[in-house]
Amino acid sequence: MAEAYKIIDHTYDAVVVGAGGSGLRAAMGIAEAGLKTACITKVFPTRSHTVAAQGGIAASLGNMGPDHWTWHMYDTVKGSDWLGDQDAIEYLCREAPAAVYELEHFGVPFSRTEEGKIYQRAFGGMTQDMGNGPPAQRTCAAADRTGHAMLHALYQQSLKYATDFYIEYFAIDLIMVNGECKGVIAMCMEDGTIHRFRSHAVVLATGGYGRCYFSATSAHTSTGDGGGMAIRAGIPMQDMEFVQFHPTGIYGAGVLITEGARGEGGYLTNSQGERFMERYAPHAKDLASRDVVSRSMAMEIREGRGVGAEGDHINLHLNHIDPAVLHERLPGISETAKIFAGVDLTKEPIPVTPTVHYNMGGIPTNYHGEVVTLRDGNPDAVVPGLFAVGEAACVSVHGANRLGSNSLIDLVVFGRATAHKIADIIKPMTAHSPLAKDNADFALGRLDGYRFSKGGSPTSSVRAQMQKTMQANAGVFRTAEVLSEGQAKIDAVYQRMADIGIADRSLVFNTDLIETLELDNMIPQAVVTMHSAAARHESRGAHMHEDFPNRDDVNFMQHSLAWFRDGGVTLAQRPVHSYTLTDEIEYIKPKARVY
Ligand code: FAD
Repeated sequence: MAEAYKIIDHTYDAVVVGAGGSGLRAAMGIAEAGLKTACITKVFPTRSHTVAAQGGIAASLGNMGPDHWTWHMYDTVKGSDWLGDQDAIEYLCREAPAAVYELEHFGVPFSRTEEGKIYQRAFGGMTQDMGNGPPAQRTCAAADRTGHAMLHALYQQSLKYATDFYIEYFAIDLIMVNGECKGVIAMCMEDGTIHRFRSHAVVLATGGYGRCYFSATSAHTSTGDGGGMAIRAGIPMQDMEFVQFHPTGIYGAGVLITEGARGEGGYLTNSQGERFMERYAPHAKDLASRDVVSRSMAMEIREGRGVGAEGDHINLHLNHIDPAVLHERLPGISETAKIFAGVDLTKEPIPVTPTVHYNMGGIPTNYHGEVVTLRDGNPDAVVPGLFAVGEAACVSVHGANRLGSNSLIDLVVFGRATAHKIADIIKPMTAHSPLAKDNADFALGRLDGYRFSKGGSPTSSVRAQMQKTMQANAGVFRTAEVLSEGQAKIDAVYQRMADIGIADRSLVFNTDLIETLELDNMIPQAVVTMHSAAARHESRGAHMHEDFPNRDDVNFMQHSLAWFRDGGVTLAQRPVHSYTLTDEIEYIKPKARVY
C-alpha cells in the first residue's frame, strides 16, 4: 500500500497537531525546553477556532473584588456537577493566575480597570467564598475578543522559539506500535504530498467535535480529528455524553453572543416579557451555569412561552445598558447582532436559542496531558508517547458541565503542563527506534479507501443526516425513547460511510476528500456520544435525562469510557478522582447543585 505513495520523512522530538490556544502553548513550551518541535495545523494558526472565543479567561486575580483560587476550584467542581477530577481542577485553579500574567507578558492586550489592572467580569457559576458569597468577577477579558488577542499573542511568541510550522497540513492518523505512539502521518493539502513525522511525543490539540451537530457555535473546522485518530488507535473516549449547549446562540445563525453579555447586565425574557430565570435560579438568575439557563429556555419554549412567529426562541436584552458601556465592553457582539440578527442591540432584544458550544468529553488525560486508558484493571494507565490538550482532551476539569471562561484557562494551563512533562521525559535528539516497513499503511489505506470510493452517498448528505440526528436525539432534553431511537439512527448513519462516493481522486487541495476524512473522524464520536448518553441513567450537568431526573452518585459518579471498534461501542466506567494534590484544600464533597 504505502509504496504507491512517495513519503517525505521528518524527524522530531515532539509533534503537536493543532495550533489553537492549547497547541500553540504546548508547542511553544516544548520548543523553549530545547526539544526539536513541529506544529501541524490544517488551518493557518490564527484562524484556529480559539480566535472566536469572546468573553474571557478565568483566574482568581481578585482585581475587581475579593477572590481566591480555592473559590474558583469550588465553583469549577460544583459546575462540573462533581464529575470533574479534583486533582486536575486544583491544578487548573491554582496555576490560573500565573498563566494569565504570563499571557499579559506575552502581549495580550487585556482591558483595564481605572488603576490599570486586568479587567475582570462576572461569568455564570463564578462566586465568592466557596459558593456562599455574591458573584465573583473572575473572568479576565480583552473586550469581547479575548480568544483573538490570546491566539495572536501565542502565535507571535511561538515564532520566537524554533518550532517548525506545517501549515495547511492535515494529520491523517497516528503511527502506533504495540500501544505506543511513534509519530503521525499527514498530508500537505496544497500539493497532496504525504509526510511521515517520527516523534517521541505526539500532542493532539485538535479542538472539539461540535460540528457533529446541526447548530453549533464552533468553527466548521471543529471536527474532532484528534478524537477520530485516538479512537482508531484503540483509545476510549471519555464522558462524551456531556455536550454543552450555550444559551445564547443567535436564532437561525448559531453565532454566539457571549455570556459576558449577561455578565454586563443582559437578561432573558419569554413571550410574556417575563424575566423567567428568576423562577429557575432565584439566586444567580441569568448568570446561572449554562446547562441550567439552556434548559430553562428550552422549558419556556416547550411550554409555549417562546418568542417569534414559531414561538421557538427567547429574547436577550441589552437595550437597557448605556450604549457607551456596550461599545467599550462588547463591541464585537454589537456588530454580530447587527449582521446575523439584523438587530441594533442598543434598541431591541436579540433573538437567541441554545446552541452546541463545547464538548466536555474527549480523549482522557491526566493533568500532565498524558493520554490515559483502562488497561489491566488500571484506569489511569498512560499511553506512551501520546498527549492531548484543549477541547480535544478530557482532563477532566469540566466534568459534566464547563463554566464559561474555564476553557481558555484550560488551554494555557494544560498546554504548559504538557510541555513540562514532555521536557521532563524526553531528552533532545534522542534516536528513534526503527519502524516496520508498513507503518504508514494504516493511514494511507484509510486515505485510499475514501479517495477511490465509488459509493452512491455524497459526503454532504451523510454529514447532514448525522448532524440532524445528533441535534434531534442527543440535544438539551433526553429521554430513554429519544436516545434509543437516536442509537438506531446514528448507527445507520455510520453504516452509510461504506457507501460514500467522492468524485475527485486528486490529492491536491481536494476539499471533498478532506471533508470526508473529517466526517470519518466525527461519525464514531457521534456514535459514542449517543450510546454513552443512552447508558447514563441519571441527570448530571449537561446531560438531562427526563426519565432519570436526579443525579445518582452511587452508580454514576463515574466517568464513562467508550471504545468504538468494528462499528460497535463498548462502554466502561472510570472512577472520578476524589482527591486533591495538596493539603491546602480538601476533597469537595458532593451536594445538590443549585444556583
Ligand atoms: P482550536 O482552537 O479549535 O484549534 C484546533 C487546532 O487543531 C487548529 O489549529 C486546527 O487547524 C488543528 N487541527 C484540527 N484537526 C487537524 C488535523 N486533522 N490536522 C492538522 N491540524 C488539525 N472559552 C472560554 O474559556 N472563554 C470564552 O470566552 C470562550 N468563548 C467561546 C466562543 C465561541 C464562539 C466558542 C464556540 C467557544 C468559546 N469558548 C470559550 C471555548 C473555547 O474557545 C474553545 O474550547 C477553545 O478555543 C478550543 O481551543 P483548542 O486549542 O482546543 O482548539
